[in-house]
Amino acid sequence: GVRAGAGALLSGVAKAALEASLTGLEFAAGIPGSAGGAVFMNAGAYGGQMADVVREVAYLDGDGALRTCAGAGCGFGYRTSVFKAHPDWTVVSVTLGLTPGDPASIRTQMEDLAQRRRDKQPLDLPSAGSTFKRPEGYFAGKLIQDAGLRGAAIGGAQVSEKHAGFIVNRGGATSADVRALVSLVQRTVLERFGVALECEVRFL
Ligand SMILES: Cc1cc2nc3c(=O)[nH]c(=O)nc-3n(C[C@H](O)[C@H](O)[C@H](O)COP(=O)(O)OP(=O)(O)OC[C@H]3O[C@@H](n4cnc5c(N)ncnc54)[C@H](O)[C@@H]3O)c2cc1C
Repeated sequence: GVRAGAGALLSGVAKAALEASLTGLEFAAGIPGSAGGAVFMNAGAYGGQMADVVREVAYLDGDGALRTCAGAGCGFGYRTSVFKAHPDWTVVSVTLGLTPGDPASIRTQMEDLAQRRRDKQPLDLPSAGSTFKRPEGYFAGKLIQDAGLRGAAIGGAQVSEKHAGFIVNRGGATSADVRALVSLVQRTVLERFGVALECEVRFL
């Protein structure tokens, strides 16, 4: 297995796996953020998720005691883990179960996914990533687009013209702008299609 500190960039861990000819983290190469955040969120993309590769997580509990949790005991679900229910726990490191693979095909897979991100996502503007979870049987971006909200803006926050599933900061957006736009999108999509969009983004 590969052990990563919680503060390591997930993309850096994926790169290290590639350099060690280990397969399993290709999905993670383009996900921004830390290994700890990825465990907390059960980050995933393109058919992979942290739940598939986490063998063990080391964390500090609310009393500061160092504990470990096997991957199967981490309560992983769609963008959630046991750590969401325990805000006083801090992920310290994660051990990943990866398998030997062919470096050329690992690299090709990572480059392919990176290209798909560049093609589809508004990476030229700041965002928090995909704003909403994928509702059962639908795609959030498609619903938002079909509701006529592509490009809709409140203050500096805007439903991305490139991918309606993202809210971008087109300049000077406040958290209140983002929240108001999230509400507008949720209200409109519920009225038009009867689908309740749930935020993937967390407000702290
Ligand atoms: C352009 C873009 C694309 C994205 N694409 C994806 C994608 O494809 N798939 C995906 O899943 N996400 C995606 N995201 C969202 C985000 O990158 C992931 O959720 C990521 O895993 C969050 O990691 P972070 O380190 O930034 O955590 P933060 O956002 O800083 O934190 C997330 C939560 O985890 C908690 N946390 C963070 N570190 C720890 C720790 N060590 N111990 C305990 N709790 C902790 C925080 O308190 C917070 O509640 C994208 C974001 C952007 C901006």
